[in-house]
Amino acid sequence: MTKRVFEGLSRRGLLAAAAGSVVSLAGCAGTEPRSRAGGRGVPDPVSFLRTSWSTDPLALCSYSFLAPSPLGVDVRTRLASSVGGRLHFAGEATSSEAPATTTGALISGRRAARDILKTARPGHSVTVVGAGFAGLGCARALTDAGVRVTVLEGRDRTGGRAWTKQIAGVPAEMGASWIHDWRGGNPVGRLLKQSGGRSSTFDYESVDGEDKAAMAELQPYTRKVNDAADPDTTAIGDLLPDKPSAALRWAANETYTQEYAAEPDQIAVSALEEGTGGSGGDVLLPDGYDKLIAEVQGDIKVRTGATVTGVRHDSTGTTLTLDGGEEIEADHTVITVPIGVLKAGRIAFDPPLPDEKQQAIDALGAGLLDKLWLEFDEVFWDRDASVIEWFDHDDPGLWAYWINGHKAFGKPVLLGFNAGAYAHRLAEHTDQQVVTSALTALRGMYP
Ligand SMILES: Cc1cc2nc3c(=O)[nH]c(=O)nc-3n(C[C@H](O)[C@H](O)[C@H](O)COP(=O)(O)OP(=O)(O)OC[C@H]3O[C@@H](n4cnc5c(N)ncnc54)[C@H](O)[C@@H]3O)c2cc1C
Repeated sequence: MTKRVFEGLSRRGLLAAAAGSVVSLAGCAGTEPRSRAGGRGVPDPVSFLRTSWSTDPLALCSYSFLAPSPLGVDVRTRLASSVGGRLHFAGEATSSEAPATTTGALISGRRAARDILKTARPGHSVTVVGAGFAGLGCARALTDAGVRVTVLEGRDRTGGRAWTKQIAGVPAEMGASWIHDWRGGNPVGRLLKQSGGRSSTFDYESVDGEDKAAMAELQPYTRKVNDAADPDTTAIGDLLPDKPSAALRWAANETYTQEYAAEPDQIAVSALEEGTGGSGGDVLLPDGYDKLIAEVQGDIKVRTGATVTGVRHDSTGTTLTLDGGEEIEADHTVITVPIGVLKAGRIAFDPPLPDEKQQAIDALGAGLLDKLWLEFDEVFWDRDASVIEWFDHDDPGLWAYWINGHKAFGKPVLLGFNAGAYAHRLAEHTDQQVVTSALTALRGMYP
């Protein structure tokens, strides 16, 4: 998730924001000259870290997005609803409040816990499948209420799509990086405060390399998107020209693909209306997202290396099957696995999920955003901009979006993103090929 700066704005609000940038663009004549630092050449990196969320069997996507469907935004409430009062669903994809974020995941887990507590009797047991923000948030709330909880996690770690590694001595987030709209009651913002972790305000407007002429070319189309009559069933791409120019493809990638992790023709117009919004801007976490995972987990024990392959359920309870064949019974089960895992049918439900639920799983999109962290000996890029953009005219959208790790963390580190089709293309490549591709882009940016 890169540009949640638009989150919470209605299509009307988005239009107003877009119109504002048209006004400021009106003063620019064509493409502005690039203000690249450049000139000294791009050395090979000292180290790198790469993600591949689509090939990770316990994710099979980065996060959900709203695809065109007659179900519209109701698809998330359908996915969130329980089956037979014993089988419950949480996870970012079930959140209408803040889909595709850690905030939405945490809210959804606590919501599932509240639902269970409405009917659970003393002594009841609950299994929670998945130990990301949703699963841990759910387990924490249930444990605090005195319910017996078992958390089953397929990985050898907790956190799921919040996963902090280290590069150049700074936290390299492989999944979530920002807390979006972090003040104004955001529960993940509250966790940060409780944990004593630091925040670093991020300015999405501080950009080097934006192609303003390309962005201006997109403006009439963003207006059409905002005015679309059937936002649930219309794809953003339906409102773009059949044969978009390279500039339009680049601008659409920056605006939609990097945000929703899918191509414009896969994203419903109503995706822009999702979420209840928030306030307080966006922050990076100099102490790492893993500190927040530890905060929400507290003393809750998680059984790692436990992949659930089957769920039997009826009106009296649930029985889970693990990949080794072991069975675990409980009064309730909460499924928090990513939408990619549900769509791939990696968990067999017996009886099968009701049509309503399966339709919601089929209708939601599973987006792909991948990251490449690069550590260099020294900084060769603009030290002041938070975001660095790149327009590859042959492949508009490839390595289009970078975060300046020097500005964020004071180290010679860059974070490159690819989303949608380009991310899927790179997922088929080796680490070395991906790093070479990134260096080719950087050498085009800083010749
Ligand atoms: C590259 C990237 C960038 C992102 N950027 C941001 C950002 O900046 N800010 C933001 O707020 N959000 C961001 N997100 C989204 C955010 O990370 C997720 O919305 C959130 O972490 C999801 O939490 P969850 O609990 O719903 O799912 P997960 O964290 O995926 O937890 C589900 C857990 O279920 C486990 N599991 C899966 N299948 C099984 C099984 N069969 N048996 C047992 N366990 C299983 C998984 O291993 C996982 O641990 C980003 C995501 C990615 C991938």
